[in-house]
Amino acid sequence: MSIRTTCPYCGVGCGVIATPDGAGGARIAGDPDHPANRGRLCSKGAALGQTLGLDARVLTPLIGGQPAEWDAALDLVAARFAATLAEHGPEAVAFYLSGQMLTEDYYVANKLAKGFLGTANIDTNSRLCMASTVAGHRRAFGTDTVPGIYDDLEEADLVVLVGSNLAWCHPVLFQRLSAARAARGTRVVVIDPRRTATCEIADLHLPLAPGSDAALFNALLVALADRGAVDRGYVAAHVAGFEAALAEARASDPAMTGLPAGDLETFLDWFCTTERVVTVFSQGINQSSSGTDKVNAILNCHLASGRIGRPGMGPFSVTGQPNAMGGREVGGLANMLACHLELENPAHRAAVQGFWASPAMPQASGLKAVEMFRAVAEGRIRALWIIHTNPAVSMPDAGAVAAAIRGCDFVVVSDITQTDTTRLAHVVLPALAWGEKSGTVTNSDRTISRQRAFLPAPGQARADWRILAEVARRMGWGAAFGWQSEAEVFAEYAALSGIAGQLGRDFDISGLAGADYDALPPTRWPVGPRRQGGRFFGAGGFFTPDARARMIPVAPRPPVAATGPRYPFRLNTGRIRDQWHTMTRTGLAPRLTQHIAEPFVEIHPEDAAALGLAPATLACLTSPEGEAILRVAVTDRVARGQVFAPMHWTADTAPTGRIDRLVAAVTDPVSGQPESKAAVVAIAPLAPAWYGFAVSTAPMQPDATYWARARSETGWRCELAGLEAPADWEAWARALFGLPEAICLSVEDRIRRSWRLAFMDGRRVLAALFVAPEPVELARNHVAERLGAEDAGLLAGRPAQGVPDPGPIVCACLTVGLNTITRAIATQGLTSVEAIGAALQAGTGCGACRPELAALLARRLEAAE
Ligand code: SF4
Repeated sequence: MSIRTTCPYCGVGCGVIATPDGAGGARIAGDPDHPANRGRLCSKGAALGQTLGLDARVLTPLIGGQPAEWDAALDLVAARFAATLAEHGPEAVAFYLSGQMLTEDYYVANKLAKGFLGTANIDTNSRLCMASTVAGHRRAFGTDTVPGIYDDLEEADLVVLVGSNLAWCHPVLFQRLSAARAARGTRVVVIDPRRTATCEIADLHLPLAPGSDAALFNALLVALADRGAVDRGYVAAHVAGFEAALAEARASDPAMTGLPAGDLETFLDWFCTTERVVTVFSQGINQSSSGTDKVNAILNCHLASGRIGRPGMGPFSVTGQPNAMGGREVGGLANMLACHLELENPAHRAAVQGFWASPAMPQASGLKAVEMFRAVAEGRIRALWIIHTNPAVSMPDAGAVAAAIRGCDFVVVSDITQTDTTRLAHVVLPALAWGEKSGTVTNSDRTISRQRAFLPAPGQARADWRILAEVARRMGWGAAFGWQSEAEVFAEYAALSGIAGQLGRDFDISGLAGADYDALPPTRWPVGPRRQGGRFFGAGGFFTPDARARMIPVAPRPPVAATGPRYPFRLNTGRIRDQWHTMTRTGLAPRLTQHIAEPFVEIHPEDAAALGLAPATLACLTSPEGEAILRVAVTDRVARGQVFAPMHWTADTAPTGRIDRLVAAVTDPVSGQPESKAAVVAIAPLAPAWYGFAVSTAPMQPDATYWARARSETGWRCELAGLEAPADWEAWARALFGLPEAICLSVEDRIRRSWRLAFMDGRRVLAALFVAPEPVELARNHVAERLGAEDAGLLAGRPAQGVPDPGPIVCACLTVGLNTITRAIATQGLTSVEAIGAALQAGTGCGACRPELAALLARRLEAAE
């Protein structure tokens, strides 16, 4: 039977139809009836079926790394939290949650922490993702309200994407925008220091100087005022602070953006003369030491022009995680209560305390994520519960965070697999994964969707809300945590939101309190007696005491860390197309590792030449916080003096590729969000004695200076490099593969100092290693595919003569490689993405690779000119 559920990755919140195969797997398809995606999925969503296996799962509670009974684990957690409370008070306990959690799980964790343990030290990894937007919304609107809906992207005449690589980070929204652009000629402006894949549909790309977004939007506010594009009626009726914001905008210098005057003028002209404008913003805005101000600089322009809350108009933040919005709504942040009620508002606090019949409620905001781990390091927090997130890798200054967790008196981690963080925990609690758990999530346009279980609970794994409620019961609060199902949790939450509605808050879903939870269709909030769904603020009605929005004066500030002779490069971090966060789930899907299989650093050709960095060699990046070794990708997508590196790799997949070790724990003073896109680094070539590439049917744990491993369809693949060459390659390889007895075939070229070794089980290849003094050139996907076959010919490293090498995979859905595409473009005279699709099927699945296909075509056309 097919089950309707929701994708667990990004904030687009696509509907998924899962059809279990009866053997623990499922067929995955886009839900044509879900309003977010209307049947579409991106490469990550489409590969969900490859991530359902249990081999990486934690399936029993662990105490001190050893399997334990649930009762023992829960008793221990309850006892240690109770003892810490008794000895050190509520400030000594903390929860660190995740946008991966379902709303019901979040609600129970928040109720336990804020209502019963009496601590506000509960924060979430959404702090790393969206906190500046939350703070900006609250300053301008009085609440954290997203005014618009996804349809606005299709109804706009101009879409401005700021700090948002929509093509890779929100691919289905990108598809919707691309389709609208093709159908109605929507203009697209991309504002980003880096020329991302999203730029393939841009009519104008503004590669502004890192951190100068506020100066750009201040220039826009001045232009709106000077060119008669301010909606005087809207401002007079619904907005406060216009003159002060404009005066501050006039004082800022657009030259800070470093943009050519002509391009800046084009942008200002398009924005000022287009009524239907949507400004989409994301991590490039939020992850900044002035992120909240940047958000307000954007909001100021939409408030001044009255372009908000009407079809095709408005500022639109798109969230990173599947339930970042749900976490914001349910009070997952240290300064919020549930239902957009505020912890430091006495009336709000009293209402929630009364509703929960809570014995203890903090009066002030708790510690935000960066402050929280600082308090852990300083011994002020002595009991810490981390749920579904991996801060030992993902927090800024991640090395220091890992050390802090290691030194904490008592650490509990609820998760589905072993991670860098679970390995530091005293107790690990096995949680249900996507496909097994049931609850709700909210996407970026306020649509609440059900995640439904379609697989049985494996091993002893349990729902997070049940685990939290069991601990609460053991601490003496059984009556307040006595739900029998997640539907009952949701009903309680919905009832509380009715009180929030009565207190004048935006978030009211009390109309869903008695709804059929199992059958709940995707529903955009609010759903209360005062209003239902739709857009906010088209006719004012802000959630401030006088119902007026606030325009905030913004004085642009550069990133905190300045580049200089010691650290001359600005490091931007972000996502890649086919991976998600620290790859605990996407890393299980071989299809998704074929696109990009190792960490890399993008560097401009002139910078690379100056540093002596050749393509595909390795570079050592050093910041004041730490260092990393990354593969060099030479590209003019980044400007001189800037580099980009993705953030997905961990100790499990590439120990020297953990990029957040380089990022300083510098935060925005209002939102507490870290500045993850403006670290400063030095770069130098690594000089390995050897490079290697290995494939194996079993996982490898190399002893090498550099390694990065990924799953393949036949086992594992691994990039390697070392500063010293082993004396005996065969012995080294046997240890790498754990094959002391297997037959070894080897080819050695002493002049070129290259080795090729295959380890056989009869005629079957179990593992192979390729070594050379420079980056190993071979058809990697071909080698990985041949593993396990009765064919020692894989040692040739490329297909037999006459058999074409498809090259690295570009289209993950249809498995079409770079070489295949470039050959077809050249030999068949293909001139459009559609023509490539017709010839090769590439780009006809999820469509996420279409920007790369367009880029390949553009390169070919350039070369032909
Ligand atoms: Fe999932 Fe992709 Fe949709 Fe995001 S765009 S929710 S990752 S299918």
